[in-house]
Amino acid sequence: MTSSTDLDNALPLDMIIFGGMGDLAMRKLLPALYMAYLHGNLPPQTRIISTGRQEFDRDAYLRFVEDNSRSFIASANFNDKTWDGFLQLLGYVRLDVQAAPDFTTLANAAHPGAQRVFYLSTSPSLFTTICAKLAAAGLVDANARVVLEKPLGHDLDSAIEINEAVGKHFAESQIYRIDHYLGKETVQNLMVLRFGNSILEPLWRAPNISSVQITVAEEVGVGSRAGFYDSTGAMRDMVQNHLLQLLCIVAMEPPTSLSPDAVRDEKLKVLRSLRRLKLADIARDTVRGQYVHGVSGNQEVGGYLEEKNVPADSKTETFVALRAHIDTWRWSKVPFYLRTGKRMARRSSKIVVEFANPPFPLFPDMPGGVANRLVIELQPEEAIKLQIMAKQPGSGMQMQQVALNLDLQSAFQQRRAEAYERLLIDVVRGRLTHFMRRDELEAAWAWADPIIEGWSTLDEKPHPYAAGSWGPAEAFALLARDGFAWVE
Ligand code: NAP
Repeated sequence: MTSSTDLDNALPLDMIIFGGMGDLAMRKLLPALYMAYLHGNLPPQTRIISTGRQEFDRDAYLRFVEDNSRSFIASANFNDKTWDGFLQLLGYVRLDVQAAPDFTTLANAAHPGAQRVFYLSTSPSLFTTICAKLAAAGLVDANARVVLEKPLGHDLDSAIEINEAVGKHFAESQIYRIDHYLGKETVQNLMVLRFGNSILEPLWRAPNISSVQITVAEEVGVGSRAGFYDSTGAMRDMVQNHLLQLLCIVAMEPPTSLSPDAVRDEKLKVLRSLRRLKLADIARDTVRGQYVHGVSGNQEVGGYLEEKNVPADSKTETFVALRAHIDTWRWSKVPFYLRTGKRMARRSSKIVVEFANPPFPLFPDMPGGVANRLVIELQPEEAIKLQIMAKQPGSGMQMQQVALNLDLQSAFQQRRAEAYERLLIDVVRGRLTHFMRRDELEAAWAWADPIIEGWSTLDEKPHPYAAGSWGPAEAFALLARDGFAWVE
């Protein structure tokens, strides 16, 4: 274990996880906390208190963690001694969030005077009652922090309701609305690339940039989340949060400082400048899709309607592609194409910034297509590449696109932490920059809601696309119409 320096004087930490036996806790939160512990990024006196409704004692909970979480730690990072040390931090309190007396049990288990972080890894419908009961049990003090998982609400009204309810007990500076895309190294690097260098900024605007594409493609289907997913859909699950946050990082003006509010003010301006889509725009500029039977990862898989717990006549979209505009000087007439879907050809998240081609074709052998692209790959690998035109060796002036690869892996030998680990450390250290502020969240819903309502008015079935493909043909037509193409 590496030793920490600035955490030595920190308050003892009580990390209290609601939904401590859930999928997120097992796959992401506990492995991330293990990694933080391994690298000395937790305060010396840390306790992780998981809660859930199972009648478990501590030993049974530790066995559950052994069986369900340990395998999500990469073997290169695993060692028995650290794991045993990590398990020593863990405790379990049986708690039903509807039962006030259970919060007294929790209060008795908490360290007096500790820095309390409440991680709400449950359905957002439970956030209001959890916060109210935490406060009633005297667990919320000025040092306390609360982490809220997405999706925060179902629409603007429900988001406001949750924000109001949480805000009764926690100040905005105590609330960490998590969007794990903001924890990705490459996304944070994009800010450095844009604002830590001067060469890009003069180009980073219309008409030098001709379009921006943001894709978050998942290879998996809805799996065991079908019940939740069918009432949510890709727009609420992915676009309203992850894709809009990525769009903000691409489009924001340089902040005046790196303070959380300075950064979030600029992101908010982007969200508020997003052009609202009217019904005719929705019909023309958005594409909903739903996967049907196909081949994914060399295996035949069924369509969305064949998934367990999905109604046979469901019109829920598992794919969205749309064209958005940001009505500012910088982005005037630059289309932002957003695309996300399940059961797509492969897992791939990337941002592609396309620059305008040279205004005059000097070289007769210039190949078609876009000469310059900045490609920021987020998944499965993180990478930043700048595509430029170069001359092929030999006589004549044959040209070809080559990639200037910012090889961050080789440039920096340091380990690259996973997004949840980085964000959890931010919470522990009180760094809010990479978390969404209330007004940002509400501005995102204010843009997304009319689109969802428009779809409901249009009442069309989503376009079918084969599992294992890049989505319906209409999504390709959306870009082709403007002379662009998706970069896979
Ligand atoms: P999950 O597996 O269904 O876990 C939810 C947890 O909530 C369960 O452990 C359950 O605990 C607990 N719970 C439900 N009712 C409760 C009650 N009355 N009292 C106490 N605990 C109660 O869900 P999840 O996948 O972990 O997701 C948790 C949250 O994270 C959701 O908001 C989800 O949208 C969000 N999220 C999840 C993922 C992911 O990859 N899983 C990714 C992004 C965001 P018991 O049944 O043990 O009581």
